[in-house]
Amino acid sequence: MKFNRLRLSGFKSFVDPTDLIIEPGLTGVVGPNGCGKSNLLEALRWVMGENSFKNMRGTGMEDVIFAGTAGRPARNHAEVTLIIDNADRSAPAAYNDCETIEVSRKIEREQGSTYRINGREVRARDVQLLFADASTGAHSPALVRQGQIAQLISSKPINRRRILEEAAGITGLYTRRHEAELR
Ligand code: ATP
Ligand code: MG
Repeated sequence: MKFNRLRLSGFKSFVDPTDLIIEPGLTGVVGPNGCGKSNLLEALRWVMGENSFKNMRGTGMEDVIFAGTAGRPARNHAEVTLIIDNADRSAPAAYNDCETIEVSRKIEREQGSTYRINGREVRARDVQLLFADASTGAHSPALVRQGQIAQLISSKPINRRRILEEAAGITGLYTRRHEAELR
């Protein structure tokens, strides 16, 4: 899956609308400590359906909303949009008629998150499945947090197996089996 753009507004330190254009090839994000490099990766993980605030370095889901600074008031909502280039049809077959796919997630204080795919409101599950079927997503082994390598080395075999399964692209099948068993 090719990511074209990441748009943030009110998300963590990105209070003003920010449009990050991701060119083909390797992209490096550089800047001094605390400038928001990790926040960008967290925005990516969040829009893909991350629902553990611990993985977002927070103590609650609303911690992703700009909390205010000495000079600026806090915001009431945060929004992240990810624009995916589907020209090579690398997204799941259900999206074959879409040249680009726009996935967005918005959170409002005391209201929780809403997700949209190409403007249509969907469940968190639908967003998670879109990425799981393409072997990516919030828990993709392609996204490595600071300190995660040490955690991987010391993790139990069952957890290491989950990482391999995610990389092999079968996590979406497990989710669907689980949903089928519930019916
Ligand atoms: P390092 O080089 O140390 O890894 P970094 O560039 O990865 O730094 P981040 O961890 O992405 O920096 O950014 C941390 C900054 O984001 C801190 O200044 C923190 O105050 C700010 N921040 C985090 N959450 C919020 C929030 N909800 N509202 C406002 N600012 C926030
Ligand atoms: Mg960092």
